Amino acid sequence: FDQRDGFIWLDGQMLAWGDAKLHVLSHGLHYGGAVFEGERSYGGKIFKSSEHSARFRRSAEILDFAIPYSVEELDAAKQAVLDKNGLKDAYVRPVAWRGSEMMAVAAQHATIHTAIAVWEWPSMFDMATKMKGIRLDVAEYRRPDPKTAPSLSKAAGLYMICTISKHRAERRGYADALMYDWQGRVAECTGANVFFIQDGKIHTPIADCFLDGITRRTAIDLAKARGLDVIERRIMPDELGSFSECFLTGTAAEITPVSEILEHRYTPGTITRTLIEDFNRAVRPESHSAAA
Ligand code: PMP
Repeated sequence: FDQRDGFIWLDGQMLAWGDAKLHVLSHGLHYGGAVFEGERSYGGKIFKSSEHSARFRRSAEILDFAIPYSVEELDAAKQAVLDKNGLKDAYVRPVAWRGSEMMAVAAQHATIHTAIAVWEWPSMFDMATKMKGIRLDVAEYRRPDPKTAPSLSKAAGLYMICTISKHRAERRGYADALMYDWQGRVAECTGANVFFIQDGKIHTPIADCFLDGITRRTAIDLAKARGLDVIERRIMPDELGSFSECFLTGTAAEITPVSEILEHRYTPGTITRTLIEDFNRAVRPESHSAAA
């Protein structure tokens, strides 16, 4: 991934892809002083760009550092990288980290670096393939207690358990892993939030120890706009058999139906399909209104 055509924005400069480098003694690498974002551009426009920029800054503040760019500056930089790379349907990856001035746990005076990379990334599947759903394993690791880790920051260090869990799931033949939380409640997947449907109502875990995804909030708003009930509540693993549909939400996942968790089977149905269609309209308002 480190040598290809294109440009990466680093600390305010547009660099050739291969020149966007950092030093091996960066705090971000040794002590996890790093936060990132994951966003998507549809038709040249980043979906909820300012919300992502605000979350990016908040993630850093939780780790006790300040990203030296405002939401407006970050939004403009992201758009500039997209335009410079000539991309319309792309993944957008801002990342910020503590630099190499202080090789110690405490690094108050380390320089904060910020980079933005983009790469082409069309939506994954056609509707028919998507509606088959994916199979989920259950992770061994649990989402940590907010008193144990900065759970609400999109901190690079929190992804250790996600990588281990996703590797294990893939080794065992699954697409992803469902993670429980420190109290044993159903929480989320390794990079996406989870929703269930029971008797026409939507149920999703309370986002109190994991990321309250921007796609999660979008799906909740879309469901409510359809007059559907959305219940955020404590969901225990022994309830997994009581749901008829299940889907994941996330920038990468968009809305992805789930067909299987352990011995439980789900058939993606009308509610999941409606939300996928509404989501597709929400992320590309121009193309839909132009077609209408
Ligand atoms: N949970 C985790 C662990 C994630 O990495 C992501 C992706 N950022 C999400 C949930 C979904 O968040 P969003 O909808 O903002 O992409």
